[in-house]
Order: sequence, then structure tokens, then C-alpha cells
Amino acid sequence: MAFIMKGTDVAQVKKQGIIKRVEALKERGVSPTLCIIMVGDREDSHAYVKGATKALAGCGIGCHLAHYPEDISEHRLLEEIEAVNKKPEYHGIIVMRPVPSAIRWEAVEEAISPAKDVDCITAQNLAGVFKGDTDVFYPCTAKAVVDMLDHYEINAEGKKAVVIGRSLVVGKPLAMMLLQRNATVTVCHSRTRDLAEISSQADILVAAAGTPGLVGPDFVNENSIVLDVGINMVDGKLKGDVDFERVAPLVSMISPVPGGVGSVTTSVLMENIVTAAEKK
Ligand code: NAP
Repeated sequence: MAFIMKGTDVAQVKKQGIIKRVEALKERGVSPTLCIIMVGDREDSHAYVKGATKALAGCGIGCHLAHYPEDISEHRLLEEIEAVNKKPEYHGIIVMRPVPSAIRWEAVEEAISPAKDVDCITAQNLAGVFKGDTDVFYPCTAKAVVDMLDHYEINAEGKKAVVIGRSLVVGKPLAMMLLQRNATVTVCHSRTRDLAEISSQADILVAAAGTPGLVGPDFVNENSIVLDVGINMVDGKLKGDVDFERVAPLVSMISPVPGGVGSVTTSVLMENIVTAAEKK
């Protein structure tokens, strides 16, 4: 049976560091705070806001919800984002996705100040990730994966890494980060032929496809280190992209869902908010 890489353990260690940094900021009169911008009333967005507010409060970080009606115009929303950019009491901004179809997501991305872009959606921060700059905000989930590797002292240098998924949120930035760590990276997607064969050659396999149970026994070898980014609701239960029951007995290390990468993602978000507040 594989060693289980618990994101909850990684998050616990990170929490201690975050709390110390928040205390130091508060001694200077700075109260790190995130502003979540939400348009409309999607149930999953409300659930995210509730969970984030609770998690942030656990580390002394504030969370303000700026909530707008479904029919807000793009122009008005951009004005509101600009106002939040200027407010010194908010150090980070997140805009809940998806926004209504009348609003162009690219316009939202461009409106956010890169200094408050703690979710790394602006072109400026993404360019920094691709260049390997260390002073930009990294996308929380991609950073959570490399932080998991660091916590478990897995050196990516020279290793074959396969990333399944090429989104701008996870797959692409993660591939760049692994490349930065001198891994030899292959990025796979829905048009990849022989996905199982390619995946089975990886030392580090990251599944970020959003397809429950995609990674089965034929995707791994006995030395595989498997990180499951997928978050899928199946029959009311949270499932990853990896068929954990069948894969775990065959590999060297594996992260579960829930309790894996997702647990670390919120910690990375908090670190980004604290960094934004410290930079001010
Ligand atoms: P996304 O934008 O839908 O991208 C999915 C990627 O996976 C695409 O590149 C797609 O290929 C590829 N893909 C889909 N099905 C595939 C298949 N059967 N075989 C090979 N490749 C396949 O999703 P995302 O935002 O990157 O998120 C990916 C997963 O991570 C989702 O389950 C999401 O819920 C989860 N997630 C988790 C966290 C966390 O904190 N753990 C945070 C964000 C997202 P094409 O490009 O060819 O379409």
C-alpha cells in the first residue's frame, strides 16, 4: 500500500506559519482581508464563500463579500472592481466564476489589480509564473501541488512528470512550475492518444482533468507518485480523478480526495493574502 500524502497535514503546518505572520501584521495595525466578488446567486459560489470565510477566520484573516445582482452590467462590475482595487482595507480579490454570460471574463481578469490578484488570473501574474519570477502570486491549486511535493521532500529534478489537464488555472501553470524545478514535463489533455501508456511512465503523475476515476491501474507503476487535483461530485460524494481504491495499492505515494491537494489550496490562498498585506 502506498504512502498517503495528506494535504490536511500540510495545511496544518502551513496554518502555524500563517497565524504568526497575521499576528505580526496586526501588531503593525494591518488586518489582512480578502474581498470576494460574487455576481448572482449560485449555490456553489455561496458554499465556497461560506467555507472560505470560516477557513480564513481560523487564521485571523478577514473576508468581505461584495455581492452583486445577476443583471449587473459589465461596465458597472468593472467600476466596482476598480473601487475594490483602490480600497486599502482589502489586500486580495477573488471573483467567483462563472460570471453571467453578459460579462466578459477577460474584462474581469484585466480589471483586477495584479497587486491584489491572489488567485493569479491577471496576465501580469501569469506571465510571471511562466517566466519563473518569484515575486508574483502563483495559482493556488498549482502551488498547492508543488507545496505537497516540498512537504514530503520529493525532489522533482530530473524526474518525469506527467500533468493531465491544460487549464490556465491548474495544468499549464503547474507544468511551468515543475519545469522550473527541472522535471521533464509532459502535459496531456482530452486529445492525448495513449494517455494511460504516457501516464504510466511518469515518476510524478498529477491528475487535473475533472473526470472522476480517470486514472486507473494501467496509468501507474510501482514507483509512481500520484497527486489527485480532481474535485468531482458523484452521487453526492466527493471523488477525485484517480480511482483511489484500485490505484493506491500499486504505487509508491498518493494523495487522497478529500483531504489531499484541495486542503492545501486554501492555505496557499491565505499565504497569498498575507503576502499581499505584507507588501503594502
Ligand atoms: P478544466 O478547465 O475543465 O480543464 C480540464 C482539463 O483536463 C482540460 O485541459 C481537458 O482537456 C483535460 N481533460 C478533461 N477530461 C480529460 C480526459 N478524459 N483525458 C485527458 N484530459 C482530460 O478544469 P480545471 O479548472 O483545470 O480543474 C480540473 C479539476 O481540478 C476539476 O475536477 C476541478 O474541480 C479540480 N480543481 C481542484 C482544485 C483544488 O483545490 N483541489 C482547484 C481547482 C480545480 P482539453 O483541454 O483538451 O479540454
